[in-house]
Amino acid sequence: MLVAHLVPGYFITIQSKSRWQPNWTVRQCALLRLAALGSTIAPDLDVVYNVIFHDFFNHSTLWTHSLFPYISILFIWWILRQSRRWPYLQMLAWLIALGGISHLLLDVVAHGTPLLYPLLVTMVGVPPQRVVEGGVWAYLTDPIFLFEPFLLTLAAIHWLLHNAHDQRVRIIGLIILIAGLSIFTTSFLLLLPVLQETITGFILLPDGLGSVHQATDGLITATIIH
Ligand SMILES: [Zn+2]
Repeated sequence: MLVAHLVPGYFITIQSKSRWQPNWTVRQCALLRLAALGSTIAPDLDVVYNVIFHDFFNHSTLWTHSLFPYISILFIWWILRQSRRWPYLQMLAWLIALGGISHLLLDVVAHGTPLLYPLLVTMVGVPPQRVVEGGVWAYLTDPIFLFEPFLLTLAAIHWLLHNAHDQRVRIIGLIILIAGLSIFTTSFLLLLPVLQETITGFILLPDGLGSVHQATDGLITATIIH
């Protein structure tokens, strides 16, 4: 999954706000928002680095997509919670853990991810086989990609309903968002056969973006897209 990873971060922030303490400063609250959103995309940042500096679209390590680092953070949160001290650190750990776990769950749906690494390198997920084998281009040309605009629209609708106070603005905004999603979905599905045919030759190339890359930690990360 790509930018839609931010959506759970948005909802996690909103859900947790009722437990933010009034004595926390503006800067501290900003850091909490940053942690909630940043942790949802952090596991894929090595891909961005690799695209810019190593000219390939893939991960350098599988650790970022393993459940264990996030369970460890959740354990830290639990210890802090039991101590009944440092409520700010508790919230920070909670948001980072949930953000990371939400990333993994979306990846499980979109294209599979090595949830149990290093115990198991097996990809856990429910994606279509062509996405698992074809990499990012196969993902971008598969109906499962529609999950991204759907989640983004959901977040935009939520934001609109809670921030636009003018009834007319709300209605117009809702119409635009729902119509936009419908038009995009319809166009995408209509164009899908052409799109899939166009990229089929490309992703089968030995050095294409969907090909197997030997990651720097020595593990094959061919089936992980992001
Ligand atoms: Zn990912």
